[in-house]
Amino acid sequence: MNELVVRAEKALSQDLCDHCLGRLFAMVDTGLSNDERGMSLRMAVNLSRSLEDKEPLPPHVKCTVCDEIFDMVPRFAAAVVDKLGTLEFETFLVGTRVDPILVEREERLWGAVSQDKAETIKAELNREIGKAVQSMIPHEVEFATPDVVALVDTRFCHVELDISPLFIYGRYRKLSREIPQTRWPCNRCRGKGCSKCGGTGKMYQTSVQEIIGDPLQRDAQGVDHFFHGMGREDIDARMLGNGRPFVLEVREPKKRQIDLLALQSEINDFGRERVEVEGLRFSSREEVRQIKTASPDKEYRVRVRLESKVNKEQLDEVLQSFKRTRITQQTPTRVSHRRADLAREREIKDLVLEDLDGRVATLRVRTEAGTYIKEFVHGDSGRTVPSLAGKLGIACAVEALDVIEIADQT
Ligand SMILES: [Zn+2]
Ligand SMILES: [Zn+2]
Repeated sequence: MNELVVRAEKALSQDLCDHCLGRLFAMVDTGLSNDERGMSLRMAVNLSRSLEDKEPLPPHVKCTVCDEIFDMVPRFAAAVVDKLGTLEFETFLVGTRVDPILVEREERLWGAVSQDKAETIKAELNREIGKAVQSMIPHEVEFATPDVVALVDTRFCHVELDISPLFIYGRYRKLSREIPQTRWPCNRCRGKGCSKCGGTGKMYQTSVQEIIGDPLQRDAQGVDHFFHGMGREDIDARMLGNGRPFVLEVREPKKRQIDLLALQSEINDFGRERVEVEGLRFSSREEVRQIKTASPDKEYRVRVRLESKVNKEQLDEVLQSFKRTRITQQTPTRVSHRRADLAREREIKDLVLEDLDGRVATLRVRTEAGTYIKEFVHGDSGRTVPSLAGKLGIACAVEALDVIEIADQT
């Protein structure tokens, strides 16, 4: 007699439903559902018993593993559809939390028939409820990055939703020297509101993140937003030129069909003179990763006040000498409270004098990512070597700094 049939007969020494019987041998063949496989094994067992003049197995009454939980699949599916309600999404996945007693009974059965390649009851429930839900709504099951996961607790027929964030990519320009890139909670009260921050909970009343993220969160009916920028500029530096790439992440969005063109013009109207955005489009967590690891060259315009007058030829000569050279920067004193103190090398790629007006020079500097431009200009008390101030032999103060290109598209 077929070895498979022998093991199926052994398993059926306790009352099992076709699902639980079929799942035991899920790795044996494909193309059948577990209950179809279970039914055909049960028939094979009875056939072999009749050939040996044995009584047929008693009819199945109540499964000793699952308590007939698969009869509940339509109810679970209806509960999922009900919970999804008016949520906007394209793809979904069903997960289940199964009563540990059922899992324990199932594992005991594996031991009894020495089966270690069975499918788990959880996996079958996930799939069967998913199929049932998919037949009720016009949405697809997706495993890798579903818009929403419906988690069914099968003991109570209770459903919880885990809604994936919404990601929107764009580029921003910051035209103000008074707002930070990201939301900045008050460092005394941490957002609760105190006398230092005048009850607002913030160090700065707004930010690039809030000007873009607040209306997006409102449209998406989300609960919070996070800003992922390709680097950042200082508060007092403007971000001009082609803008800086970012991805805004909205948590728990109830809407995903956002009119991004309308949103973009709303942001630009409201942000006038402070923040502009362009190229808004839907994005992904994968793009957040790319943005956070990118390290493109940057180009800056910097207005420098010189301690004393320098003639143009002398200044040009010093600037020329920096082209394609490497400088060493010890972590600047102004950021040393939040960054490790270490020395790093960065390349100054190009340096051009745009204008010299008395003691004020305007320079255009192109550098490798991660260069501290202000320190390159004033030397940070000898912590950046060589520096512009060091080579000129006079003090140089940064009056204004703008980022004019993020070279991520070359
Ligand atoms: Zn069962
Ligand atoms: Zn405060």
